[in-house]
Amino acid sequence: MIDIQSFIDRQLAAWPMAAANFDALGRVVVKPLTWGKVQFNPARIASTGAKVDAASLKKRACFLCEANRPAEQEGIEWKGPSGRDYTILVNPFPIFPRHLTIPDTEHVPQRIKGRIEDMCELAAELEGYTVFYNGPRCGASAPDHMHFQAGNTDFLCIFDTEVPFGVYRSFADTPFEAARDFKYIYDSLPVPEGEEEPMMNILCRRRQGGRYEMVVIPRKKHRPSFYGSEDGQMLISPASVDLAGVLITPVEKDFRAVNDEIAAKIYSELCYTKDELKDLRNKS
Ligand SMILES: [Zn+2]
Repeated sequence: MIDIQSFIDRQLAAWPMAAANFDALGRVVVKPLTWGKVQFNPARIASTGAKVDAASLKKRACFLCEANRPAEQEGIEWKGPSGRDYTILVNPFPIFPRHLTIPDTEHVPQRIKGRIEDMCELAAELEGYTVFYNGPRCGASAPDHMHFQAGNTDFLCIFDTEVPFGVYRSFADTPFEAARDFKYIYDSLPVPEGEEEPMMNILCRRRQGGRYEMVVIPRKKHRPSFYGSEDGQMLISPASVDLAGVLITPVEKDFRAVNDEIAAKIYSELCYTKDELKDLRNKS
């Protein structure tokens, strides 16, 4: 197992910007909802407001490529069972008290196919963490560079609660079994026109006792119909963490406005209902 806490401590001691953002997270305001909570997190503006269309991506230097990373940022090299190489990094714009970004060492597009076993092994290496994946149009702010993220599991509420929208849960004894379960789900989901994979968020942890628990959140839509910074709109761009029970907004008025009704509207626009998922599964 990787001693991730020492790594985080070393990075925060050497990197003032990241340390300041982790420190600010301690003062971030949170509001409970009936299911989950809302976090007002001004430092997330770059991610929530990220332009992820092809033209905008082409113009910016990829922040996950080693050549463009800040000088202070160090990484832990890690090879997955698929043979692919990753680098474990501290996320300098955290949502979690412990938040990591884990890019592929190569600049290849965000795709999950063939990487579920990597995801499971990472979850086994990172004790107490949930590893998650945001599809290229499901909250990833770098859809052009394959990456996972990880955060401390106790921050999320998706694993042990009844979720107000449709998800698939898989419990597996081995990464191989988890990948087999996942393939079944993946193949049952529609691939929207212009996309290369079904839209989804995935969260994976290793439970005490060793089983792998995976939650797949199939998605219908990228952002809510009221996404934006104009009057009457909200800057909320849901990804795995939001749909695992922590809705993030960098804007104070949006934080104040979000309530159970708005959360329900977000879930109903972006996710399938439980019945819809059952139908998809029966058809496949
Ligand atoms: Zn890159």
